[in-house]
Amino acid sequence: SGLTIAIDGPSGSGKGTVAKMLADEVGLPVLDTGLLYRLVGSVALSRDVALDSADALADLVDQLLMSIDWTVEGVFLDGENITGSLRSEQVGEAASKVASQPEVREKLLALQHQLAKAGCIMDGRDIGTVVLPDAPAKFFLTASIRERARRRWAQLKDDGGSTLEAVVDELKMRDQRDRERQHAPLCQAADAITIDSTTMRVDDVVDRMLGVLER
Ligand code: C5P
Repeated sequence: SGLTIAIDGPSGSGKGTVAKMLADEVGLPVLDTGLLYRLVGSVALSRDVALDSADALADLVDQLLMSIDWTVEGVFLDGENITGSLRSEQVGEAASKVASQPEVREKLLALQHQLAKAGCIMDGRDIGTVVLPDAPAKFFLTASIRERARRRWAQLKDDGGSTLEAVVDELKMRDQRDRERQHAPLCQAADAITIDSTTMRVDDVVDRMLGVLER
């Protein structure tokens, strides 16, 4: 099986951007596991499935697993690439709720293992701890809550609406839910290397990672 690199961290820590840049350097595909939880959250919203109903969500995931294709290009539902529709804050919020259900996580695990087999950079919350505990390289990316909110806000600003303070509050709630859930909470693997990107440029974060990989 191929080389796997795990990148975990809270919302807005820059995992996605950094994973893509690192992928260009090392020639591995990137798999964004947040998309899987976003897919479940999004379809639950559109089908009026309660976001706290373990049984209904488990059934939904069973159905989805038969009709989705998860590739490095994104998530395809019945042949259509729906990744763009999964990026909203509303879907992110629903994703974090369904992600607290152990049945949902359990069912998505096999799919993640299957895709990681050929080698990849995988980003998420529990990659180094649960999905790929044997990954030879693990990173935990952090940044201060204000900096993460500022980055998120800068992306959203074009759509008008949210204030920076509102984004700070949303991120705090998301962090709390991700860290305090019983099953596979967001936490750092004992053998992960922490990079605090609060005052770093993305290029420097990627350089630091490349330095670690060369060792
Ligand atoms: O990273 P992203 O914002 O796309 O993730 C959305 C939500 O999915 C997170 O807030 C988290 O609750 C959940 N998630 C997870 N485990 C992962 C990836 C994402 O619980 N490996």
